[in-house]
Amino acid sequence: MPELPEVETIARALSPVLTGRRIVRALVLDPSVLPNAGAAGAAAFRALTEGRVITAVRRRAKLCLIDLSGGAIVAVHLKMTGRLSVADALDPPPARARLIFALEGGGGLVFSDLRRFGSCRAFAPGAIEGWEFYRTLGPEPLAIGAFEFIPLFAKTSRAIKAALLDQRVIAGIGNIYADEALFRAGIRPEAKANAISPERLAVLHAAVQAVLTEAVEAGGSTIRDYRTPEGIEGAFQHHFKVYGRAGQKCPACGKKLVAAKIAARTSTYCPGCQKK
Ligand SMILES: [Zn+2]
Repeated sequence: MPELPEVETIARALSPVLTGRRIVRALVLDPSVLPNAGAAGAAAFRALTEGRVITAVRRRAKLCLIDLSGGAIVAVHLKMTGRLSVADALDPPPARARLIFALEGGGGLVFSDLRRFGSCRAFAPGAIEGWEFYRTLGPEPLAIGAFEFIPLFAKTSRAIKAALLDQRVIAGIGNIYADEALFRAGIRPEAKANAISPERLAVLHAAVQAVLTEAVEAGGSTIRDYRTPEGIEGAFQHHFKVYGRAGQKCPACGKKLVAAKIAARTSTYCPGCQKK
């Protein structure tokens, strides 16, 4: 599932291409992509988006946000296999297209999704704050200093890995970057969050920012499905130290990397380098 670096890569690629383009039609090919459209369904979605000009494409947490003239927002959740791409021709629609924004002047923005877990939500101006998932998102990890990061973990005795994955604690981090950051910080994923000293949390803060920044620069990580809007794979998977490498040697100390289930997710860590 795309995490912060992947969605950031997508938003940065789309924003210059789409900003200033007018949506002439929203073609809902699969209504199941519209979870909040209610009884009005596709009609409500179209009313909020058709005729509007795209003013920016940006990221919040793992969401790709499309800002529209007048203040409406489309929030795209890519989930497992969702993709956003720009097509020059829409007839026939690109394979697996679920929703297409046909743009003035030809072509369009295509949301395609093989496994159909992804979603698109349209919000009237200001209404996105009424979406509980959005309203309760934690801070952006690249936008906060250590002094804001450290207190996020003071009140929870959950495993630090579980806290990092909790979008209400801190936004945008998933399994890949949590494992990589914890390795760099020398912290075991199962360590109790509120038992970790502020000094070590400051190290973790630096590790989280470094991993995410490097991953954004590499265009994200492609494990299976993720592609940039240009159809290119990310490159950060070539720099993984621990993620997906259980049973292999730690690149730092040579001990065998171990896999453990934490918060229902597989964590990989080095029993030599990472301490509780
Ligand atoms: Zn090690």
